This record gives sequence, C-alpha cells and structure tokens, in this order.
Amino acid sequence: MPELPEVEALALFLRDRAHGRTVIRAEAASFAVLKTFDPPLSALTGGVLTDVGRHGKFLDLKFAVPGGGDLHLVMHLARAGWLRWREDIPEKPVRPGKSPLAFRLVLDEGSGFDLTEAGTQKRLAVYLVRDPMDVPGVATLGPEPLADDFTTEALAAILKERRTQIKGVLRDQHIIAGIGNAYSDEVLHAAKMSPYKLASSFTPEDVATLHAAIVSTLRDAVERSAGLAAADLKGEKKTGLRVHGRTGQPCPVCGDTIREVSFADSSLQYCPTCQTGGKPLADRRMSRLLK
Ligand SMILES: [Zn+2]
Repeated sequence: MPELPEVEALALFLRDRAHGRTVIRAEAASFAVLKTFDPPLSALTGGVLTDVGRHGKFLDLKFAVPGGGDLHLVMHLARAGWLRWREDIPEKPVRPGKSPLAFRLVLDEGSGFDLTEAGTQKRLAVYLVRDPMDVPGVATLGPEPLADDFTTEALAAILKERRTQIKGVLRDQHIIAGIGNAYSDEVLHAAKMSPYKLASSFTPEDVATLHAAIVSTLRDAVERSAGLAAADLKGEKKTGLRVHGRTGQPCPVCGDTIREVSFADSSLQYCPTCQTGGKPLADRRMSRLLK
C-alpha cells in the first residue's frame, strides 16, 4: 500500500508531468470506484490541472473547471491500488470487467493515467468534490507528521491516556495521517520500541525518541522517492524498508532474525534484539512456525 512517502512522490510526479494540462475525459471502470455523484465526472472535462497535493494517503488533484471555480479529484489507492502514468493513454473507453483497471484520466496530448487495483477486494476510492474536506476520510485525518506543528509536545498529547498498543496508534489515520503498516514497522524499529508498548506508558524520553523516529523515517523515505517516476516507486519503497516485509532476514542493525506476528487484520515485522529485549512476541498464529 502506498503510504505518505509514496503518495507525496506521486503528487510531485503528477505536478511535474501534468500541471497545466487539460482533461479530455475522466472515466470510472465501475460504480464502486467513484464514491461521489455530484458533481458528475463529466464536470472535469475541459478542466485544467492547477495543483496536486496530498492529505495523509489521499492524493488531491485540483482543477480549474470551465463552469468556473475548482474541483478536486481525490484518490485513495487502498491496499492494492496503484497509479500508472501513460504517455500513450488508450483512446477506447474504459470497459467494466475483470481487468485491474479502476479509473482513467485522459489528458490532452494523448497522455494521462490509470488507477489499477490488484486482487478481488476492491477498496480503491475516487471522489470528485468541490472541497477536499467533503471527503469523509480526509476530514477526519489526524495531524500530518511532517508538518511543523507536529512537535514532540503534540505527539505527547496524542499518546497520553491512550491505553492502546503503539503499533495501532501509529497506523490509525484519525490519530496521525499517512503512516500505514509498513512505515509503522519501520518507525518502531528505528525507535527500538516494541509494537505492543502501550501509548499511555510513554515517558517524555520515549515520546522524544518516537517523534525523532517518525520524522526521520518518513523524511528519508520522502527524499529517496522524490523525483522517481510512478513506475519506480514500489521498488524504491521495498528496498528502503529495514524490517517490514523482511521476515526471516537479518536485521540491518544487529543481525538478529526479523520476526513476524499477526496484528489486527494483517501482520507486523520487528527485530527482537532491537525492539523487545531479545524476546519474540507471542503470536498464536505464527509462534509454532517460527520456533
Ligand atoms: Zn536488530
């Protein structure tokens, strides 16, 4: 799933490629993809792309439209979605069917992009709105972790009295925007903290350590992916990760074997030596397999 750094890089990429370009047409491959009905997608035709932004993991394309005013095409790629930029966007209309194509934006000069989604679970979402705050997932986002006002004090206030495990806190979009399963693993590894540590148990030193890990992990990832083409972002994300998705491989810091436990609807990876005092975390599903 693209998280803050990848969505930020996609925004940069689209700003570079598509700024000032005119929409020929926007098409959704199914009713399920487009979450809004007013204004209709046809309202984008003739619109000029004036800005590309990001809210958490949402991409926000702003268009000046012929009727006057602005419209925002807000997109959430979900777990298996991706954006594919095309210099030769097909002329043929999008047909609903089994293909992974979910949405297509055709721009002038024959280019544009496809949003695709792999797998059978379709969660990719597109919204056409007058104000990005009309998108419920955007309106309820927590603070942006790379914004200036995301200070150590702000993080302390977030964690205080929250009697839940830090892993869950970090990936909850209502609490902090943009961090998902991958970067929460990376942040906790950088902070040398157990994913199960209770948020309410953090000392001021813990908060400062976690804050520094959040900012440095995300900033490094943003720097690595900035300027990359959309097609290269997935690979860059994968190679840049130190523990996430690396079960069984050596920890790049201490050489211990990276382990995995189930967490909520997925799994998390961590290094026992760096994060849990050398003790593997208990996990009914995985413990037998990893012994
Ligand atoms: Zn380690």
